Amino acid sequence: MPRPLRVAIVGAGPAGIYAADALMKSDAAAEPGVSIDLFERMPAPFGLIRYGVAPDHPRIKGIITALHQVLDKPQIRLFGNIDYPSDLNLDDLRQFYDAVIFSTGASADRALNIPGIELEGSYGAADFVSWFDGHPDVPRTWPLEAEKVAVLGVGNVALDVARILAKTGDELLPTEIPANVHAGLAANKALEVHVFGRRGPAQAKFSPMELRELDHSPNIEVIVNPEDIDYDEGSITTRRSNKQADMVASTLENWAIRDVGDRPHKLFLHFFESPTEVLGEDGRVVGLRTERTELDGTGNVKGTGRFTDWEVQSVYRAVGYLSSELPKLPFDEDSGTVPHEAGRVIEGGEHLASTYVTGWIKRGPVGLIGHTKGDANETVANLLADHRAGRLAAPAEPEEAAVTAFLEAAGVRYTTWDGWYKLDAAEKALGAAQGRERVKIVPRDGMLDASGA
Ligand SMILES: Cc1cc2nc3c(=O)[nH]c(=O)nc-3n(C[C@H](O)[C@H](O)[C@H](O)COP(=O)(O)OP(=O)(O)OC[C@H]3O[C@@H](n4cnc5c(N)ncnc54)[C@H](O)[C@@H]3O)c2cc1C
Repeated sequence: MPRPLRVAIVGAGPAGIYAADALMKSDAAAEPGVSIDLFERMPAPFGLIRYGVAPDHPRIKGIITALHQVLDKPQIRLFGNIDYPSDLNLDDLRQFYDAVIFSTGASADRALNIPGIELEGSYGAADFVSWFDGHPDVPRTWPLEAEKVAVLGVGNVALDVARILAKTGDELLPTEIPANVHAGLAANKALEVHVFGRRGPAQAKFSPMELRELDHSPNIEVIVNPEDIDYDEGSITTRRSNKQADMVASTLENWAIRDVGDRPHKLFLHFFESPTEVLGEDGRVVGLRTERTELDGTGNVKGTGRFTDWEVQSVYRAVGYLSSELPKLPFDEDSGTVPHEAGRVIEGGEHLASTYVTGWIKRGPVGLIGHTKGDANETVANLLADHRAGRLAAPAEPEEAAVTAFLEAAGVRYTTWDGWYKLDAAEKALGAAQGRERVKIVPRDGMLDASGA
């Protein structure tokens, strides 16, 4: 008797959910159909939309509403609070499913190897983001004693970090930040935030909208030094061919020529300053040394040998995220991705049978939420091609009940999609009590209890 195609998706961030959506919208969804189980390490789904996107970006967080329509489908089940491989390993997954898609994303900071980076007061952006987004597995307090702060990197994460450091706690109170984050930010002493980029305005990786938004806070004075506005032939080519880069450069030019206002927190965007050392005293950050760079004609830069020491008491590096290796899967340390061909996991030159990747674990930690949709479509198209060609090995226990019996026998406490509705209602109720839309529940146990796990 024909049975549905059983697919496991490990990681319920946007990439995993879009993969489920692509499967549901494919020909395979017709009788006997597909049956999809999403396994997620956190008690709640949505990955970096919940634990990466900044709290003052409610429009982006609102993508969760669109993802609801996918997870509401009866053919899709969610198992939250389930870690691969400690709760369910690859052999277990093969026991229950025709195919497995890994969409475990990226959650750690890429290293920056400069002297002093290990000093107290030097932080990775990912850790700070996890703290202000109420991630259950990080400490509840964050040291915010520094009056002058450096942020290294000129991408959107650097902007998020700089903006959250420069806003006031009260400005962020209407968002979903939990009480411990509001209290931490209310005690934040930062008056100056300095963002540093090695290259110039034409090479900055900011999104134009995110950049312009910096200037909307009544508390943040954005300052750009006119000497940092410089272009070579390579930069001009970039601006001509890339509308986003051109918009970013234009915004920075406008900011460089205007008068500096009197908003209380100063946010400096520095270009052509390459961080060379975090300076310390008694094990603590007391400064940052940068080397002035200049354009070499191609849009790249070279050092000038002129150094500046900036007095700062903390340094945040926002130089990229990094994925973690997944046991039993190949891993490329340099790119921090699982080697693949159009989503098929490749080991020793061959497709690791029935195993696929999508999202940041596939493409690397670059691109917006929307980009994970295209990733998912490609991966799912190849999975279905393998299915049609009879290349997927049939699992020994394809019944939906088999996996729940397995988890229950192991005594694993898991959450479900119904559980998310309960957690969502509990967070909204917490918010309503304070006249806010939502207040996040932080502790894992609290999330599990509210989800009725
Ligand atoms: C700080 C920050 C801010 C951002 N802001 C924006 C923004 O404003 N707008 C925008 O469009 N994009 C933004 N992005 C980018 C966006 O978050 C990513 O494009 C997107 O989340 C990548 O999706 P993903 O599903 O591949 O990974 P993730 O979102 O990381 O999802 C992966 C999921 O897998 C789970 N997982 C990991 N390991 C395991 C395991 N071993 N077992 C089970 N589950 C596991 C994780 O818990 C997570 O839920 C931001 C990114 C960052 C880092």
